[in-house]
Amino acid sequence: QGTGVTVLGLGAMGSALATTLLDAGHAVTVWNRTPARAVGLSARGAEAASAISVAVTANELIIACLFDHASVHETLDPVVAELRGRTLVNLTTTTPNEARELAAWAAEHGVDYLDGAIMATPPMVGAPEASILYSGTREVFDAVRPVLDRWATSTYDGEDPGLASLFDLALLSGMYTMFAGFLHGAAMAGSAGMSATDFAARATPFLSAMTFAFADDARVIDGGDYTVAGQQSLDFSDLSHIVRASEEQGVEPAPIAAVQELISKQIAQGHGAEAFARIYESLRADRTDS
Ligand code: NDP
Repeated sequence: QGTGVTVLGLGAMGSALATTLLDAGHAVTVWNRTPARAVGLSARGAEAASAISVAVTANELIIACLFDHASVHETLDPVVAELRGRTLVNLTTTTPNEARELAAWAAEHGVDYLDGAIMATPPMVGAPEASILYSGTREVFDAVRPVLDRWATSTYDGEDPGLASLFDLALLSGMYTMFAGFLHGAAMAGSAGMSATDFAARATPFLSAMTFAFADDARVIDGGDYTVAGQQSLDFSDLSHIVRASEEQGVEPAPIAAVQELISKQIAQGHGAEAFARIYESLRADRTDS
């Protein structure tokens, strides 16, 4: 029998986490605000706790996979005294500062805390292709790692408890911006009658092939020299013709117009001959332009 684990929150993700632990032979206690959601897991051998206080005192290791930061406090504030001396791994999506706040709250109450960010969908849980990022106390990560590794490839990102959330959200920012670009392209093609399905068939190989450029841009950014040879210049990257084409077709240009705005800003500052990657300078946290 593996380590006993309590799982709080039996939505799509919490249920997948609990099921994977049960399948691996752990004794699992589950709790959900709406008790009916625990029925299926009980049938598979989980212990359904009748109250949150019962759930958090059943095991040393408690996993929270609730809705958001507020729901973690709503659930755990009333039982914080019972949590003392136990380990809380919070897999609920939060912002970095919300994760830091929860870590400070846990420390104040004598609770060992690790924050996690799940880079997977529920059906992926339990497979090595799934990835979960963790940050917070290294000793806590090392101690609970055998359980964490049941779900996914576990990555430890550092002592700052906000880092797992930050890196998760950084990747999602890239993903959603790319999706918005795809949808804008689909609307442009759609203005001439192409179905979104046909556009997707063309966009998938093209956009996938373009991702090699991430590493090139990264080398320029990390090297700190945007005049380095072999880069596409900002002048060459002027996208006003795409914005115009979008408008001519009656398509809202917002996603591509946002990119053009970043390019124009760098050109206006006299950097037109430098690499496209220089728009990073208009985005970075310590940027000097406004
Ligand atoms: P669901 O919407 O399926 O489930 C939400 C869960 O949160 C339910 O158990 C719900 O309980 C509970 N909940 C909501 N509000 C409260 C509250 N105020 N107090 C107590 N419990 C509450 O969401 P998921 O399971 O998909 O997601 C859970 C977390 O995992 C989220 O933070 C999400 O961002 C994260 N995540 C999800 C992924 C996914 O693909 N699903 C991917 C990566 C991260 P009740 O049944 O009573 O409503």
